[in-house]
Amino acid sequence: SAKRSGGNGLSFYAREMSASSAEKLVLETHLRHAVQRGELFLNYQPILNGQTGRPSGVEALLRWKHPQRGVVAPDRFIPLADESGLIVEIGAWVMREACTQGKRWHRQGMDDLSVSVNVSAVQFAQPRLLETVRTTLEDTGFPPEKLVLEITESVLMKDAETTIGMLKALKNMGVRISMDDFGTGYSSLSYLKRFPIDIVKIDKSFVRDINEDEDDAAIIRVIIALARSLRLTTVAEGVETPEQYGFLRREQCDRFQGYLFSRPVDADLLEQRIRAGGFDV
Ligand code: C2E
Ligand code: MG
Ligand code: MG
Ligand code: MG
Repeated sequence: SAKRSGGNGLSFYAREMSASSAEKLVLETHLRHAVQRGELFLNYQPILNGQTGRPSGVEALLRWKHPQRGVVAPDRFIPLADESGLIVEIGAWVMREACTQGKRWHRQGMDDLSVSVNVSAVQFAQPRLLETVRTTLEDTGFPPEKLVLEITESVLMKDAETTIGMLKALKNMGVRISMDDFGTGYSSLSYLKRFPIDIVKIDKSFVRDINEDEDDAAIIRVIIALARSLRLTTVAEGVETPEQYGFLRREQCDRFQGYLFSRPVDADLLEQRIRAGGFDV
């Protein structure tokens, strides 16, 4: 079993996965039932406002509690969900669950909190994404301006006209768009100008070596400066050390997310931590 491998089960699982496509098929079959069986759940990670040191929002991060293998990380099964098309159903579930939780928090007085949901390129290519977002907002009563959709550069590499049409339709609903993992894809700085985006998330690979690698520090400075001149909000992901946080604050990054403040945790634990006074270090 995953336990016997000695680790947390994830590395064991990763080896297995690359080992055989038969295994992949088995997993896809399991994934097909995961939604109905209630095996999927969300963790939430705070995104801090640098001015207040309080969370301005949370990112919803999907987990799968496989009955035999334990908790499986999204990097292991989202690609499978994308390939098989299951991501459409799973993504709709994620959006509903996150907005329902967001509404619950708003009712409990944390009514400034925004909720970010990841949307893969496959999801984004489906015209019905619009309908999913619209009905989810209607049914849950979660305010559109508090919903953030995180997309990656791969979304923008598809047909530009269609992509811009989809982004505009979402923005017309009041939803905000965040460019996730910025700098890792076939990055083009012009994307930020060309597409109607509100938020830029600097990928954690640049943040990691910020205090040792002059090049990474330079890249981050450029992204922040460009984002500011385009009036976009900047978020740094993967902030793990006080030194990284210090650098990013000095460079006037707007928002911060990372293990330094909190790992992704379940909704109740996150709520307790927010009530206990926030995350500033
Ligand atoms: P992402 O959207 O870029 O999410 C950030 C990832 O960085 C998360 O990994 C998070 O746990 C991790 N992280 C946060 N802070 C730190 C830190 O300080 N250090 C390090 N090393 N890592 C940190 P996670 O939860 O394993 O998710 C991986 C990816 O899976 C996400 O990357 C996203 O692309 C995808 N994903 C997660 N949930 C969903 C979902 O509901 N739908 C879709 N389509 N994709 C999802
Ligand atoms: Mg994300
Ligand atoms: Mg990211
Ligand atoms: Mg990432």
